[in-house]
Amino acid sequence: MKKASQGKRLDAEEGLVLFKQADLLTLGELASTVRKRLHPERLVTFIVDRNINYTNICVNRCKFCAFYRDADKREAYILSKEEIFRKIEETIAQSGTQILMQGGVHPDLGIEYFEDLFSSIKERFTIQIHSLSPAEISFLAKKANISVLDVLKRLRASGLDSIPGGGAEILVDRVREKVSPNKIRWKQWAEVMRTAQKIGMPTTATMMFGSLETNKEIIEHLVRLRDIQDETRGFTAFIPWTYQPGNTELGGRAATAVEYLKVLALSRIMLDNFDNIQASWVTQGAKIAQVALEFGANDFGSTMIEENVVAAAGVTFRMTKQEIMNVIRDAGYIPAQRNTTYNILNKYDLKL
Ligand code: SF4
Repeated sequence: MKKASQGKRLDAEEGLVLFKQADLLTLGELASTVRKRLHPERLVTFIVDRNINYTNICVNRCKFCAFYRDADKREAYILSKEEIFRKIEETIAQSGTQILMQGGVHPDLGIEYFEDLFSSIKERFTIQIHSLSPAEISFLAKKANISVLDVLKRLRASGLDSIPGGGAEILVDRVREKVSPNKIRWKQWAEVMRTAQKIGMPTTATMMFGSLETNKEIIEHLVRLRDIQDETRGFTAFIPWTYQPGNTELGGRAATAVEYLKVLALSRIMLDNFDNIQASWVTQGAKIAQVALEFGANDFGSTMIEENVVAAAGVTFRMTKQEIMNVIRDAGYIPAQRNTTYNILNKYDLKL
């Protein structure tokens, strides 16, 4: 605990001891100290963007996922280009700067589909394409029998700007084999991220916890991310959220607010080379997200003009840009709209 309060790096063993022995408020205080050192100005950032789930058809069929459908099911869909364009128009009309396009890993959509889609978007709109998680990128490489590097270079040339860190779940294969046996293993996730970072594409990192992992595996996940970040400095942010068991094959219980806040604080303490950590209001709601600002978070993530994946599990917290700003202000912070790479676009007054 002493080492953590002095701002020194904790190894995996020390992190585990802290996680097991420190109470909620101690972890919060330690995390808050780190946050204040990195972000003394009391700004809480957010981005205006929209999740566009271009298809819900997915070959991976993860056991924790309530979103995917098999191709022959009535609810299975692929959005047309026109529908995607309309969603982007609506996003831009609401001062949105980014779209986050993620599937389903659709068995028939190859790299040419995405090259065409991204270039048609860039021809029509000025918007950041922050899209395709490592599982989708890996699938495209396998399908076309080319390297991950070639996939990323081709997609970047057609308009892909940055890679979201979705599908990390827990970066430990014991857990992955149980919750998503058909999905890429942790080393493949890391390979996509390292490759993107080495060619200068910004990326984020995530963690979905609260399913089957142990405390030790949570620490292992954090240390693996920290090691990659030491090498590349390519992650702009870390986004932890909790498993949502509704409508899933895996079932079980949802993590409590205390469990969420403890892991959030631990992440801020362990990830000493990450500038930004997001509060997950989409899974925790506005009130816990406010508290999260005292447990290490400095960013409110996205306004999520549209969100389908968490909603499929029956959790539907929604907030407008104005509501997000109000919630941040009510917690005593200054709201600021940012872009994908955390540059501030608009700083708003503390008072309404
Ligand atoms: S989590 Fe992603 S990869 Fe897994 S089944 Fe759902 S959509 Fe497919």
